[in-house]
Parts: sequence; C-alpha cells; structure tokens
Amino acid sequence: MSKVSIVARVIDGNRIECRVVSAQGPELTLTGSVDDQDPEINGQGDPAFVENRALASNAWAYATFTHKSVSLPDREQQTAAAKRAKAHETVAKWIAEVASDVTTESRHGWCSACFGEHSHRKAKRPAGQLPSYLCVGCGSPTLPCAGPTCKNMAVRGRGGVRTPRYCAEHRHEIPGFSKASQTIGDLSNYREFLEFEKRNLSGTSKLVGLGLSGLLMATPAALAAAPAIGGAVGTVIGGYTGAAATNFGLALLGGGAVSAGGFGMLGGTLVIGALGGALGGTLGASITNTYVREDKSFHIEMLRGGPGTAVIVCSGFLSQNGKGWGEWRELINRRYPDSPVYRVHWGAKELKNLGLLGGSGAAKFVGGAAFKRAAARAAKVAAKRIGPIAPALMALDLAHNPWHVAKSRSEKTGLIVADLLARTDEKSYVLIGHSLGARAMVVAAQALSSKSGGPRLEAAHLLGAAIGAKSDWFTLTAAVDEAVYNYHSTNDRVLKMLYTVAQGGQTAAGLKGFTPIEDKLQNIDVSEQVKGHSDYFENVILR
Ligand SMILES: [Zn+2]
Ligand SMILES: [Zn+2]
Repeated sequence: MSKVSIVARVIDGNRIECRVVSAQGPELTLTGSVDDQDPEINGQGDPAFVENRALASNAWAYATFTHKSVSLPDREQQTAAAKRAKAHETVAKWIAEVASDVTTESRHGWCSACFGEHSHRKAKRPAGQLPSYLCVGCGSPTLPCAGPTCKNMAVRGRGGVRTPRYCAEHRHEIPGFSKASQTIGDLSNYREFLEFEKRNLSGTSKLVGLGLSGLLMATPAALAAAPAIGGAVGTVIGGYTGAAATNFGLALLGGGAVSAGGFGMLGGTLVIGALGGALGGTLGASITNTYVREDKSFHIEMLRGGPGTAVIVCSGFLSQNGKGWGEWRELINRRYPDSPVYRVHWGAKELKNLGLLGGSGAAKFVGGAAFKRAAARAAKVAAKRIGPIAPALMALDLAHNPWHVAKSRSEKTGLIVADLLARTDEKSYVLIGHSLGARAMVVAAQALSSKSGGPRLEAAHLLGAAIGAKSDWFTLTAAVDEAVYNYHSTNDRVLKMLYTVAQGGQTAAGLKGFTPIEDKLQNIDVSEQVKGHSDYFENVILR
C-alpha cells in the first residue's frame, strides 16, 4: 500500500501551495493564487503522476477549498467549503495512490471517464483487489469492462472494489463510444443516433435520483461518478484546467451552490456556454442520452421537407401540444414557405404538472393548490433566509417546484437540440420558439455559439419568451447571421404574473424585451396585436 500525503499551505498573502507526495517517490507541487484556475505545476516522477490532470485538478481544488474553509465570511459557507475540500482530498489521494505505482503494461480502449480513446496504464494493486489502470488522457483510474469480450474501460471506483464495473456503453450512459462523435447527416436520423449499440449489463437503466435538487436531479451518470470525473469533464469540454475544471465539472453536477464557492445557478449561462465544446462529441452524446431518457415525450417530428433553411420550432405552455403543426402552420408558411420544418416535442409531463398545458391557463394555475403550497413553503423559507422579497415559486425546494422543473426541462431540451443540430451536415438553421419553448431555443442558440465549426443560425424568432430580460446576451447572438427577433407584448398577462412571481420579481424578455440590446438582437413590440400569451401565433408576422 502506498502512502500519499497532500498538504496545502499559504505561502504569502493570496498565494497557496499544494504538495502531493507519495512514499514511492513521485511528487507534485501546485502553486498559484487562491483564485487561480491554472496553477503552476512542478513535479518529479512518472508522467502518470506528474502529468495527471485528474490528480492536479482535485489536489488544487482541495487546496483552494481548504483556503476557502477558513477565509469565507460566514460559517455555513466555511463548512460547505470544508466538505468539498475533503471530497477532493479523498479523490486526489486515491488517484495519487494508483498513479504512484504504475507498470509498463497497458491496454488501449475507450475511457468511460473522459469518453476518449486512450492508452490505460496498469497499476499494481494489493492482492485480492480488482486491477486498476490509469487513463493517459484524463488520469482517471479505470479497469476493463466486465462485459464479456468488451474492450472498453470502465471507471474504477476507489479502494478495494470487488463488484464488476461496466463501461459507459454497457451502462447505457452513451449510445456508443465511436458513434458518439460521428455526424448523423440529416436531423431526421437522430433516432438511430440515440439507439444503444450494446445491451445494458449494469442493471442501472433507471436513473436514480441523487437526493439533491435542481440541476443535480438529472446528472448524466458519467458526470456524477466522482469529483475526479467532474474535474476531467471540465477539462475536456471547457478547455478549463485545474480547479476551474473541477468547479465547472461540479457546477455541471449541481454541486456548485454559490454558498459552497461554486458557480451555482448564476453559472447557468456559463455552464451552457462552456458546454458548447461538447456538442456533437462524445460528452454531448452522454448528456443528450441522459436528458432524452428522462423525457419520454421528447421527439422531433418532421412536418415537411423543402429546399430552404431548415426551421426548428418549439412550443411551450398554453399551446396545443399534440402532434403536427399545432398553431404554427400559418406563421411559418408566411415567412419560410420553402423550408423544411421540424417540430421539437418535449416535457409533456413537466408542462402538465405546471398546469399550463392547453387553454385554461395561468389563472387556474396561479390560483391552484400546487401554486399555493409552493408559495407557502417558499414564503416560510424566504422569510427566514431571503428577507422580504415576494418569493412565491422561488422555492428552495427546486425538485418539487413545478415551475423550476419545467424550466429546467426546457433548458435540457435546448441542449439536446443543440447537440443534435451540431451533429448534422446542415450549414444553418432557423430557430422559432414560444414561451418556455423560446427559452429552449435561447439555450440552444447559446450552446451552439460556443461550438466552433458547428452550424450557424440564420435567424431566431422568440415569441412570448419565458426567459429573464436582463443578461449578457452576447452568446445568444454569436452564432446568428441575421438576427434574433424577440416579439414581446406588455399585454401578455401570463408572463407578467407567472414569470414575475415565479422568478422573484424578474421581468420576462417576452414582456418588455431584452436588455441590453446587442447588434443582432431586436426587440419587436407587438403589444398592439398580442393581448394574451397564446395570441402570438395568429397575430404576429415574422420579420
Ligand atoms: Zn480518460
Ligand atoms: Zn463494456
């Protein structure tokens, strides 16, 4: 058994140092300021140790969170930081232990931690333990998949695990390693792409709630496996390294509550933005796969073909969510008569729970029992913690808050759409969305904007968009050639009531328009013509 020590200390002022030393000889020193996302790395020993990204990420995260656990202003934050420091320390020690005893023997195969095809170096493990390898790509401990004849590598858990581990293909975390990074040609081939190539051997086909709320509810299993992987993920998709990668990975996992020193919910756009690099790749495939499996109603319906730029249309609440065109036909025909049209169906369950499916509307919802319960609960919590903000649906119990669940589903839908579009051969698309469907299209546009070489957007049309008016909207328009048109109405009472209440006083972009305005972001006031949340279809003419 190797002995590993990890010691973090303040050198002077804001600079800290973290030393990882193994009794076997190799050692690693990370130095940087407490906010450094990219510490200076020095080391001696085998590259498996000194060039191990997962090890460096976790060690540096341990050091910075240890510093936070004494420097953050209040005790609750300090405790949270100490907890995360501990988690990173445990993972860093485990990786260092494996990495300090590698042999020259290696295997080549797909890695279930970073989804890349890499060499995996065998490490010595105590007798009686399952073997361990180290992925040369990401540094995570791996072992051969327990599936008969499978050549892929599974993620190796810590310590003396004896239960068989399966690769991401055999766990159905990913449709297939090699096809996950391939293109699908036409969008209508998306179903084939999502079909699994291997049988699920792990018996974990059911997504298990992790007991945490919000973003965490539906974390792709591959990302949830360990902080080590959270770190690797950040590195892989964001181009981040070190603690930023770990933070990012964890923010993606939902572990990034602001109080714990992470990006938290504020990091939403950031996370989405950074995710762009993953679109069309293996990690994107894993995320898409997870999100699609959560939403039985998700599918893309081709409404018609045509020679023009393909139009993607997405409805939200208070609209006809059945098959076919719903209310969209006239609106789209007038502006894009030659275009193929695809409709994204999503979130039937979430929208139903929100009580805003079909005509009867927000009045019923806002007066309804679910809303009142959520409001009462939120008010109680808020009175204690947030102060006198009218909180209503701004409940902290996000998992049971129908608004938050539907909103989160719409964002995931946007990511699925972006990932699928990034896999097609099309050069450009037009996105059209209404209500929470507009929110999904905003997320899709933002995600695509950070994907270099991905498809462009000819234009996006947002009707009654259920998304906050104020943000840095650069990422929304970065992939757009013509413009993002935001049709908003001050007479949209649903947005006025529901959005303002549910989002704790925020204003929806669909009500008053986006601020600040970017070059290619146009607010179009249709208050004259649109007197309600469902009036856009008949009364708006797309620019
Ligand atoms: Zn790897
Ligand atoms: Zn396998």
